Amino acid sequence: MTTPEPVVTARDLRVELGGNRILHGVDLTVAAGEWVAVIGPNGAGKSTLLNAVSGLVPATGAVRLFGRDVRRMRHRERARVLASVAQSPVVPAGITVSDYVLLGRTPYLPRLGRESAADLDVVREVLVRLELLDFADRTLRTLSGGELQRVFLGRALAQETRLLLLDEPTSALDIGHQQDVLDLVDALRRDRALTVLTTMHDLSITGAYADRVVLLAGGRVVASGTPREVITEDVLATHYEARVRVVDVDDRPVVVPIRKR
Ligand code: ADP
Ligand code: MG
Repeated sequence: MTTPEPVVTARDLRVELGGNRILHGVDLTVAAGEWVAVIGPNGAGKSTLLNAVSGLVPATGAVRLFGRDVRRMRHRERARVLASVAQSPVVPAGITVSDYVLLGRTPYLPRLGRESAADLDVVREVLVRLELLDFADRTLRTLSGGELQRVFLGRALAQETRLLLLDEPTSALDIGHQQDVLDLVDALRRDRALTVLTTMHDLSITGAYADRVVLLAGGRVVASGTPREVITEDVLATHYEARVRVVDVDDRPVVVPIRKR
């Protein structure tokens, strides 16, 4: 039996921005159906890594998505296999929730053509699934942080890709809404056989959801493995200069900060 090709394979990724080397040769693989979380201190290069995987920043090295070289894919093609939500998405002024989610159908619309009834069905399904139907005609700027985060996810889901890239999808949310969004992503992962690559800020939340964790520091992978292997007191002291206790809850690491003085 041959093992299926990973959904994401990045090899020796190097990125330079504004004259500074941001990624110094990063390797990353994400298997089909896996949830991989990239963690690391501020400025470690997490967002840059996601942008390099999606072909949004120039990088040297190789990125393959579903076995295909990302640089050889046209924009539309790429948008049919990979949907991503940026850390702070740009919101077009005055746009409504349903029109914003409909933007996710762009890679399927004929050039200069309009959306079909099938596209509108997809949008409606997404709005139902994300409990956004009541918000369909509201403009995005009238939404709360949690509602907005669901709308961003909605646009990505309307793309109907099998790979989802989320850059700190829950950092603006309170703990209950964080769980709602991530439980939903996890449910979708199972229902739709999605593969998920996220960056994450909260380490306990990372520990609760990710299958595998990649710790980035200074543009390099310094640790990777299961949450219990990576999220340890020693690793966090070394790479975050954090003083923490890590306790085990249901075989998952929970990080408790301790005052430094
Ligand atoms: P993270 O997401 O881990 O916080 P980023 O990937 O956003 O980190 O950024 C990594 C480093 O790259 C930071 O030091 C940041 O200032 C720098 N950087 C990001 N984008 C640019 C850019 N366009 N020009 C110059 N430096 C950048
Ligand atoms: Mg970032």
